[in-house]
Amino acid sequence: MKRISILGATGSIGQSTIDLVRRDREGFDVVALTGGRNIARLAADARELGAALAVTAHDELLDDLRAALAGSGVEAAAGATALNEAAARPADWVMSAIVGAAGLAPGLAALGQGATLALANKETLVAAGPLVMAAARDSGAQVLPVDSEHSAIFQALRGEDPDTVERVVITASGGAFRDWPLERLATATPAEAATHPNWDMGQRITIDSASMFNKALEVIEAKEFFGIHPDRIEVLVHPESLVHALVGFRDGAMIAHVGPPDMRHAIGHAMYWPRRSDLPVARLDLAQVGQLSFHAPDPRRYPALGLARQVMAEGGLAGAIFNAAKERALDHFIARHLGFCHMSEVVEDVLAREMPATRPNAAGFSLDDVFEADRRARLCADAVVQERIE
Ligand code: NDP
Repeated sequence: MKRISILGATGSIGQSTIDLVRRDREGFDVVALTGGRNIARLAADARELGAALAVTAHDELLDDLRAALAGSGVEAAAGATALNEAAARPADWVMSAIVGAAGLAPGLAALGQGATLALANKETLVAAGPLVMAAARDSGAQVLPVDSEHSAIFQALRGEDPDTVERVVITASGGAFRDWPLERLATATPAEAATHPNWDMGQRITIDSASMFNKALEVIEAKEFFGIHPDRIEVLVHPESLVHALVGFRDGAMIAHVGPPDMRHAIGHAMYWPRRSDLPVARLDLAQVGQLSFHAPDPRRYPALGLARQVMAEGGLAGAIFNAAKERALDHFIARHLGFCHMSEVVEDVLAREMPATRPNAAGFSLDDVFEADRRARLCADAVVQERIE
């Protein structure tokens, strides 16, 4: 029986993970579940799955969690330290599905205890890729990708010599506004941006798909995870979302990963790796699909992709700054302080203002440097937004 913990259990990825656990109760022993504000969901799942521990990120919700777990025998805890402790509880496999940079420290705590880290939280590698991969090497822990594109690349690379890889192609649906006229983008609302043509995901990643900040994070994630040079990572718009990524090899072959847009494939792949197991995902009927289409992304529609190139060229703490600025710009867009197109302008401004201050750290940096760069970038983003409002 595999001992597992799920960080971000109440979210979209967390719930898909729990769905797979429910289908294989003999296969998994649940150690810890963590969540944020959705106490009812967290407590219900912890009870049902017989988790040893349930943790909310919010101290002020501890009493509610305790009340919801009364009589269940599930231990309750709250706060950032408790999240890290939950991740550090001995387990064989830990799902990292907290949204945002808040997932970084718990992910590192899971790696520190030697657990296999199933990484949905892409922000972890964007903000601190070299530190995270070094932590995995030091503890001998395995990191497995859960982002569908990275899982696809991982699967295409199985058994291949990494030196023979010429390029990887990450696909993107193009998000909610793929077919909107460019001039209409300025009027886009958070509700419109939070509608994805193909995937059912959390609100933040769905809006990030419309702006392609999500794809920008994924390009950086691919560089950090696979050690691929940025020039060899391409992005293609693929409206059908059936080909998740392609790997091109030196001999001219391309291996594509094709499957329905259902995160339970990538999650299940990481849960059962290195073997393949039966998963409850739809089987594709390609004759019915008929056609697959691809086109290059328009840089005017998706400026976030250009910013990702800049971040990879800068290296060092640029990823931490980029991610934090993006998270705050997104908060301000959701709060309707900012227009949709202004998010990338704010992030660009923050990079320009904050990068010079962090350049001395570009060669090597610590986790504290990452947290400090993240903190400063958030303040800077708030200041940039405030200047725009005034
Ligand atoms: P959701 O917003 O659906 O869920 C986020 C989870 O994190 C919830 O459990 C939430 O708790 C918890 N949470 C929110 N804020 C904090 C915090 N500050 N500290 C601790 N926990 C917190 O996100 P998704 O499931 O969509 O995404 C999770 C991660 O996976 C992201 O990094 C995303 O980019 C990545 N990912 C998601 C995909 C998807 O299909 N959804 C695909 C590929 C990657 P609560 O809801 O209780 O407040």
